[in-house]
Amino acid sequence: MKKSFKLMAVCLAAATMLSMSACGGKNSDESGVSEGSSSLDNIKRNGYITMSTNAEFEPFEYNEGSEIVGIDVEISKKIAEKLGVKLRMNDVAFGALIQEITSGKADFVAAGMTADDDRRKNVDFSDNYFDARQAVIVRLDSDIKEPKDLDGKKVGVQEGTTGDIYCTNEDGSSEIKVASVERYNKGMDAVSDLISGRIDAVVIDDFPADKFVDKNSSKIKKLESMLTEEKYAIAVKKGNTELMELINEVLKEMNESGEMDQILNQYLVKE
Ligand code: GLN
Repeated sequence: MKKSFKLMAVCLAAATMLSMSACGGKNSDESGVSEGSSSLDNIKRNGYITMSTNAEFEPFEYNEGSEIVGIDVEISKKIAEKLGVKLRMNDVAFGALIQEITSGKADFVAAGMTADDDRRKNVDFSDNYFDARQAVIVRLDSDIKEPKDLDGKKVGVQEGTTGDIYCTNEDGSSEIKVASVERYNKGMDAVSDLISGRIDAVVIDDFPADKFVDKNSSKIKKLESMLTEEKYAIAVKKGNTELMELINEVLKEMNESGEMDQILNQYLVKE
């Protein structure tokens, strides 16, 4: 009796390990077939859907205790709920998110990700769900008053983001010409370097900028003028129209029911 219980426990542990390794990003289902692993049938059969994000981006995704919370997490929960499955989340560097999808580690990415043409070469985007802009954060006593004052300055960005692309200005299309770009994995680390004087400004999306400023308002501020206009969307594997359509349906329902506004209000005003 005792022995069989022990055996069961071992089996259970093995099964858990198996499912955990799937969660950890194997791009294949049990049959070893990687193609179509994000199909709705597979997702339903597995009983979970995997979303990848970078939980350093309050109010869209951030850690509260041991939990990842935020606007994108609320939307992702709705997507899982619509499919009747559990939500699993991978927290990775922002620069690794597109690869999470192309490699099949994630079914979708919800990360305050701007739907831009370069990314569209590798993933498909859902309908837009949020309008954002790049903002500039400086120290309270800074001589940077306008975006054009960034010329010749040392600017911190989150690596691989549209703020990084804008400041790096590889194609020469940005209005500003900064002296150097410092790249960070976490926006918070860029803000710390700004406060300690190692860099002159941080360029980051406007709502995360507000959160950083709120927490350090005796030291830093956000410039009123913004740099870019962008739209956030959810990314899926190229050609996965059935998941894309389902996500668009969820976004539409959330907009029509007023739930999206409610969630945005809840997180954008929350301190
Ligand atoms: N919206 C920006 C981008 O897509 C930044 C997103 C983020 O840092 N999570 O590049």
